[in-house]
Amino acid sequence: MKKHSWVSLLLAVCLLMTFPSLAESVYTPGTYSAAAFGMGGDVTVTMTFDANTITAVSVDAPDETPGFGNKATDALPQMILDAQTADVDAISTATVTSDAILQAAAACIAQARNDGEAATEGETPNEADVIVIGAGAAGLAAAKAARESGASVLVLEANGRVGGSAMVSAGNLNYIGAEWLETLERNDDEVRGYLDYTAADFPAEYAADLETVQADVRAYLEDTSRTGAYDSVARIMLDHYLKGYGKDLDGNEVWMDYDYIRAGVERNEDIYLELAQEGMEVKQGNRPHFVTPLRGGTELIEVQYKIATDAGAQIITKTRAVDLVTDETGKVTGVIAIDPNGETVTFTANKGVIIATGSFAANLEMVVQYQNMRQASRLTPPAPTLPQTWATVSSWRKSLAPSLGTCSLSVSSGGAIWIKPTPPRAARLAAQNSLP
Ligand SMILES: Cc1cc2nc3c(=O)[nH]c(=O)nc-3n(C[C@H](O)[C@H](O)[C@H](O)COP(=O)(O)OP(=O)(O)OC[C@H]3O[C@@H](n4cnc5c(N)ncnc54)[C@H](O)[C@@H]3O)c2cc1C
Repeated sequence: MKKHSWVSLLLAVCLLMTFPSLAESVYTPGTYSAAAFGMGGDVTVTMTFDANTITAVSVDAPDETPGFGNKATDALPQMILDAQTADVDAISTATVTSDAILQAAAACIAQARNDGEAATEGETPNEADVIVIGAGAAGLAAAKAARESGASVLVLEANGRVGGSAMVSAGNLNYIGAEWLETLERNDDEVRGYLDYTAADFPAEYAADLETVQADVRAYLEDTSRTGAYDSVARIMLDHYLKGYGKDLDGNEVWMDYDYIRAGVERNEDIYLELAQEGMEVKQGNRPHFVTPLRGGTELIEVQYKIATDAGAQIITKTRAVDLVTDETGKVTGVIAIDPNGETVTFTANKGVIIATGSFAANLEMVVQYQNMRQASRLTPPAPTLPQTWATVSSWRKSLAPSLGTCSLSVSSGGAIWIKPTPPRAARLAAQNSLP
């Protein structure tokens, strides 16, 4: 008897000791909300929990792209509910909205969880091998490349969304893959104009390209049995010169840097194919050797975002870099940034910092002061068939032109801002001085 009572007592103590953990619930029951920035604005997720399960998930995403964002808002709540976790696959073609939903859902779960582990779920890392400042087209590409080199990567983005200028662009890309050209109509009239140029029409560095294009075009025009359109890297180079040539407001001749353009153009096929493989769909662009994503720059950035994040880059939005940290030798070792709460945060970069904050195109003051270019394209005869389609950006006109008097702005395919020749620079500077 005595022995039994000791055993019973021991069992009772054990039960008492283990009882709290058996009884401990996973969640604090209740309803929790969290938001994350999606494609066009805040995506808010609201989740209800009982002690051990997620019982309801709803998403409010009023600013996402109609026809695409709703694929994620429709499917993900049930997927999260079924899986009882925010660790579910994003919906392809709506990856940015998906990521926002999943990020916000993870934050709801973190709020509802009782254990310490969950509390760290939404913590922002502050150290990486490489820190990229800016999550535009360039920053996302840089982040992916750094990850491929084996570096851990953090991308700091001042805006609430990724994508920078490309998000509001058509997303046109140079692409002249052979199979693609084969799908296009013959373009005899379009390319015949190149035969009228002479070496004197181009700077010396374009001589070989002109020779190549003229030989190609002659052969193409002679071979009437050939199907598809003619295009080539050499032709793109000539077009970049012809379109990029101009005179600045001080009368100097200017054109795009040859090596810079060539580096990008030569990789056009690799770049396109990688984006296409990740789901980007295109149609023929509005001018030669251009393809345009079906959903414009939004689609381009969605795919770039997917590539960068699939590679393992972490992107932190609403975080503006304001300074670089350097060590005693002058080496850049980190970034000082302002987080969404207005707090100053230091990010440590073990191997380096890549600044991909774009140009000064969005800074009116600097545009007025430094953009010293006016449109004087050489796309006049003898190549009248090449369309002179300067993408005029109505929103820019609306927001900037009033401040600049009668001056109007447009943006070229290369991202350069073109200011029509009137009013003269002095008047623009005067206009700048009168800005509030
Ligand atoms: C209307 C329009 C149409 C265009 N059409 C085309 C086209 O069809 N084809 C084409 O090839 N090009 C086009 N362009 C040009 C092209 O979009 C840009 O050249 C390209 O997007 C630039 O990318 P980027 O990453 O260098 O810079 P940005 O796009 O400017 O990206 C910079 C990023 O850095 C962030 N950032 C800035 N400062 C900080 C900071 N301090 N801390 C953290 N983040 C910061 C910004 O918020 C932004 O997200 C177009 C441009 C416009 C405006």
